[in-house]
Amino acid sequence: MPKLTTLEWELLFGDIRCQEQELEDDLNDLWATAENAKEEVDAIADYAPYCSDCNRDTNVIDEYYMVKDELWEQATATQQADKLCIGCLEKRIGRQLTKHDFNDAPVNELSYGTKSDRLRNRLTAEAYHDTAAD
Ligand SMILES: [Zn+2]
Repeated sequence: MPKLTTLEWELLFGDIRCQEQELEDDLNDLWATAENAKEEVDAIADYAPYCSDCNRDTNVIDEYYMVKDELWEQATATQQADKLCIGCLEKRIGRQLTKHDFNDAPVNELSYGTKSDRLRNRLTAEAYHDTAAD
C-alpha cells in the first residue's frame, strides 16, 4: 500500500469531515420532520370529533359544546375522554345537563353553528327532567 502524502491525508480528512457534516444535517432534518409529524398527529388527535364512548362524530350530530371544568372533571374522573356526545356525558354524570352546566364559551351560543335538538334543549334548560328528552 502506497504511503499517503500530507496533502492526501488532508484531503481525506476534509472529505470525512464533509460527510460527517452532511450526515449531521440529514439527521437534523429527520428530527425536524419527526417533530412536525408528531405535532400533526397531536393536532389531529385534539381535533378528532368522535365521542369517546359511542364513537359518534360529534360534528355530524351537531354536538360541539363546552361544559364547566368541574363537570368535565366529574365526568372523566374514572375514565378519560377527549369528547363526549350529550347522551354519553349525561350517562356518565347520571343526569341531564342544564344551561348551568355549560361555560360561557362562544360555541355554547345558540347562534353559533348548528346544534342538535337535545343540545339546544340542554343549553336552554333551567332544570333537568326525570325523563330523557332525546
Ligand atoms: Zn356518545
